[in-house]
Amino acid sequence: LNALKTKLTEKYPTFEINEIGPPLDAEEAHDSLRNQYHSTRILAILEQRVRAKAVDMLLGITSHDLYVPGMNFVFGESRLPGPVAIVSTHRLNPRSRFKYALFQARVVKEAVHEIGHMLGLMHCEKDECVMYFSQNLDDTDRKRSDYCSECRYRLGRV
Ligand SMILES: [Zn+2]
Ligand SMILES: [Zn+2]
Repeated sequence: LNALKTKLTEKYPTFEINEIGPPLDAEEAHDSLRNQYHSTRILAILEQRVRAKAVDMLLGITSHDLYVPGMNFVFGESRLPGPVAIVSTHRLNPRSRFKYALFQARVVKEAVHEIGHMLGLMHCEKDECVMYFSQNLDDTDRKRSDYCSECRYRLGRV
């Protein structure tokens, strides 16, 4: 979390980024048959906390495996646009041997992606853009951790 906070502070210099606790209890989003967590239900829990904490945006980070109905899994989900998003680290771990730098780069990319949605960006068809929709880790590893020039233009500069 500290490494992610440092990276996001670099990427969004006008944002004040704080870690807020306590850790969320997401059990009501747990699906025991799938042994996964319904990410949209977690977004609803995060929305309650946005109001309670009076923050502009809240990015949840979880090690739980997330899904939405109709998909086997998702790396994350966001309101589009909206104040909440969630990123799962569950599938971002390198399988063979734990490689911290690779893991960290993936978490940053998925976080920047979900923040882009919170700010109103849709998916981008350029596979090197962070707003490309990752369906697997190859997609995530191929894309950069930044918005392409068109997405950046649409954001009107974050
Ligand atoms: Zn997306
Ligand atoms: Zn783009």
